[in-house]
Order: sequence, then structure tokens, then C-alpha cells
Amino acid sequence: ASPTISYKLEVIRFDPVIHTLSFEQEILNSIDQAMENDELFLVYQPKVNVNAHKIDGLEALIRWNHPHYGFLSPAIFIPILEQNQRICDVTDWVIQKASKQFRKWHEQKLPVFQIAINIPGEYVTSPRLMKKLKKALVQNNIDPIHFELEITETSVIESVESTMRAISAFREAGFSVALDDFGTGISSLSNLRQMPISTLKIDKSFIDEVPKSKKDSSILGAIIALGHSLNLTIVIEGVETKDQVDFLLSTGFQLTLQGYYYAKPMMATELSEWIEKF
Ligand code: C2E
Ligand code: MG
Ligand code: MG
Ligand code: MG
Repeated sequence: ASPTISYKLEVIRFDPVIHTLSFEQEILNSIDQAMENDELFLVYQPKVNVNAHKIDGLEALIRWNHPHYGFLSPAIFIPILEQNQRICDVTDWVIQKASKQFRKWHEQKLPVFQIAINIPGEYVTSPRLMKKLKKALVQNNIDPIHFELEITETSVIESVESTMRAISAFREAGFSVALDDFGTGISSLSNLRQMPISTLKIDKSFIDEVPKSKKDSSILGAIIALGHSLNLTIVIEGVETKDQVDFLLSTGFQLTLQGYYYAKPMMATELSEWIEKF
């Protein structure tokens, strides 16, 4: 069986709704070892600048090849780590690995400007995060301009003021900040206006029925126009079809697209080959 198929089977078997306390306990008991033994690893998904036909960046996404459960989806284990205060350690691990990898790519002269890391809501406002990021950048001699922090809209809504302050501090330190899964939380437009972000990542659910659904197409078009009027970089996540790409191009706006239509998340070793062919 291909890795994709076994991965999907595991996801079905370990549905987060039906998993037992002991499954959760086993995840928590094995996470330290997973970080040490490279059971955890990162895959990278390109963000394509369609207008300039280049790669704007890569999003680092975590994977776990668990000794008992096989390939586990982050959608299953990230929430467990979040609920049990283990997510910060794992985020630090991601920061370390992604920085080292970016350094390597930089030395190989891979034409990738930015690497994006997902930052969980409860870690955004912690002073520890800024320290860990700065340390990783110094160790690997990387300018913060090459780092983007993806923060979900939902986590911003939970504590608007402190999160906004944290985002400002990251921007002042030179990092890019993206609002991830935009449109899934009900953040008010006045919040968006004040938010010191650089990028809006529009949630996949807004593109799914485009261009078939006229309603969804006009909503998506409106969000894109709004983002542009706020001078934000717009990323559309979950682009899967040529029809979707054609619709997005027809808006006439500069856009960055991410999705299976271009590439699935890849191992670092597969990526250089993919970029050569792109
Ligand atoms: P996200 O940050 O919104 O990441 C996008 C998810 O959509 C990824 O799933 C990606 O593989 C998937 N995706 C991208 N393009 C397509 C497409 O065209 N079609 C479909 N059907 N899916 C697409 P993944 O890697 O399973 O990650 C799921 C979520 O888990 C992420 O959502 C993120 O919230 C979380 N996550 C993943 N890696 C990390 C990490 O290192 N740290 C933290 N804190 N969370 C992570
Ligand atoms: Mg993300
Ligand atoms: Mg997202
Ligand atoms: Mg998402």
C-alpha cells in the first residue's frame, strides 16, 4: 500500500471523536520520544505566486509516524497536545527543524523566499516564543524577513488585545504574520482593520464550491478585494482544480495559491526536484 493510503486509513481509525483516554495518554507519553527519534518530521507545501510564476514560500506542516498507530494526522494529535500544554515544546521543535532546513536550502540556493510555521493560539502571546524564534534565527544566520508566522483567526478572537500586541511585536522584529483559516472565526471587520498582519490566508472552505457556486464565488471575490484594499498579501489555501485557478486569475488581483493543484506537502528531499520542474 502507498503511504498515502495507509495514512488515510489511520486517520479514519483514530477519529478524534471516538478516540479513548488511553489513546490520548499514549500520545502524551510518546511525544518526547517522537521528537528525539525523528518519528515527528516536517513536510513542506509550496505557496505559488501565479502572476510572477515563482514560489513565494513554503508552509512547514508536521507529521508523525507513530510506532503503534502509523501515520497520524496533525488534526488529531495537535489538539491533544494543545489541551495538555505540550504544544509549546512541539512548536519549539518545529522552529528548530524548519530553521535548519531553511539554512540548507539557502546554501543550496533554492529559490524560496519564506518559510511559514503554524503557531498555536496559546503560544502567540508568550515571551518564550519570541526568544526561541530569535535564537533559531541567530543559530542559523537567517533574517526574520524569511519567516512567516501563521496564526489562526480563531486564536486571535480568543484574546484580541494581547494577540494584537504580540503580532505587532513580531512585525517590529521583522517577521511576517499571516492570519490563517481566515473566515472560519467570526472576527469583526474592525478587528481586521486594526490587525498588524502582513498576510490573509483565506480558508479552504471559501474555494471548495468555486466557481460552481455563484454565491461562494462572489463572497470569495469580495474577501480578496477587501484584503487587497487593506494592502495585505492574499493566500488562497486548498486550491485543487484548474477551474478554481481560472476563477482566481479572473479576479485580476495578485494572488498566492496553495493547494493540491500545485503540490501536496512534500519531504524536503522531494522539494528541490519539484522546484526544478516547476
Ligand atoms: P492549516 O495550517 O490550515 O494547513 C492546511 C492544511 O490543509 C494542511 O493539512 C494541508 O496539507 C491541507 N491542504 C493543503 N492543500 C490542500 C488541498 O488542496 N486540499 C485539501 N483537501 N487539503 C489541503 P495538514 O498538514 O493535515 O494540517 C492540518 C492542520 O494541522 C493545519 O491546518 C494546522 O492547523 C495543523 N498543523 C499542521 N502542522 C502543524 C504544526 O507544525 N504546528 C501546529 N501548531 N499546527 C500544525
Ligand atoms: Mg497554516
Ligand atoms: Mg490554513
Ligand atoms: Mg486549515
